Amino acid sequence: MAKINDKCSFCGRSKAEVGLMITGEGVNICDACVRAANDIVKENSKSAKGGKFNIEKQDLPTPVDIKTYLDQYVIGQDEAKKYLSVAVYNHYKRLMQDKQNDEVEIEKSNIILVGTTGTGKTLLARTIAKRLHVPFTIVDATVLTEAGYVGEDIESILTRLLQVADYNVEEAERGIVFIDEIDKIARKGDNPSITRDVSGEGVQQGLLKLLEGAVVNVPPQGGRKHPDQKMIPVNTQNILFICGGAFDGIDKKIAGRLNARVMGYGASKKANQIDMQNLLQYIAPQDLKSFGLIPEIIGRLPILTYLNPLDRDALRKILTEPKNSIIKQYIKLFDMDDVKLSFEEDVLEYIVDKAIEFKLGARGLRSIVETIIMDEMYEIPSKKVKELVITKKMAQIKLEKANLSLFATT
Ligand code: ADP
Repeated sequence: MAKINDKCSFCGRSKAEVGLMITGEGVNICDACVRAANDIVKENSKSAKGGKFNIEKQDLPTPVDIKTYLDQYVIGQDEAKKYLSVAVYNHYKRLMQDKQNDEVEIEKSNIILVGTTGTGKTLLARTIAKRLHVPFTIVDATVLTEAGYVGEDIESILTRLLQVADYNVEEAERGIVFIDEIDKIARKGDNPSITRDVSGEGVQQGLLKLLEGAVVNVPPQGGRKHPDQKMIPVNTQNILFICGGAFDGIDKKIAGRLNARVMGYGASKKANQIDMQNLLQYIAPQDLKSFGLIPEIIGRLPILTYLNPLDRDALRKILTEPKNSIIKQYIKLFDMDDVKLSFEEDVLEYIVDKAIEFKLGARGLRSIVETIIMDEMYEIPSKKVKELVITKKMAQIKLEKANLSLFATT
């Protein structure tokens, strides 16, 4: 147990939890708090000069640059990539705006991505953050509950962002937060008063102020706030929120709306023009509302876009084409042991067939490849082998032994 005087007087973390603790007369300060304090001083002197963020216009990639970058890592999803690229570009332009001398106020362009699980929502958000060199974190909306209930406070969303920014508040304040499973905080029923909906509407209300931009007090270690914990104020004005969700069943709501329109007076789309296989492409804000998101939240996520289901062709490309594709990763792993690993073409087709047969999606591709080459990964580093070619026959033998249906949880 850390003694009380071993703790940082600012964030309360013990010596064991920090890199360095500087001790003064009756006070301690950890390295993270020194950095945070330094940032506050810097920030203050900047705002005194009427300054803005130090992203320069020439450093900002254009939407086309951003999309081209995304193309290297994410297969397909052109529509979502375009929307994201433009939204991100506008967001960072907004950060560069000289707000004091400009009457036109550019509003935040938070984004909501709708698409079945494993189609690349997180991958898109993560890849964008990598391109922009800004702090990025993924939080799961399912753990959030209203203050006072078991779960995590809404503000803890920003704790992780602070942590990845090394408690550099200024850096965190222009980062990107990906809120996954946003659909899980949808209102459960049409009548919110039937039961206490601690993880639904209350959480949505709490999220509002984060999304629109406010100074919130963030618990440095996350979880629940408690009275003697020192808080770090973070302004969310310039944090870009990207929300993602599968919204299971929303296709029926879209279909219902489209049908009503097709049959109604002044119908703009004919029934036979609607692609029933991919209804998400017609998603509109009112569908999110019917699903249970409150209108205020929808209003603060003005960019709405969708991801396509991954077809056979997309799965085959995912296996080998992205810059860090699954196959390239395994080739690299073997290469580090000076072993030349290769896969015959029909094995790759076979892997895709199995992923489809067992409905494993893109996430399943990795499990399948792993199952096929597990024994080799175990044995080869201690053998004098220089080359390994994976054939379809080998893959079949390995997969017959494994029970693929066990993977089908994703
Ligand atoms: P989601 O957030 O939509 O549930 P992820 O982005 O986490 O899905 O995707 C899971 C994994 O599947 C990724 O890490 C990646 O390996 C692969 N993947 C999914 N969609 C794509 C895609 N469109 N292009 C390349 N890889 C993909």
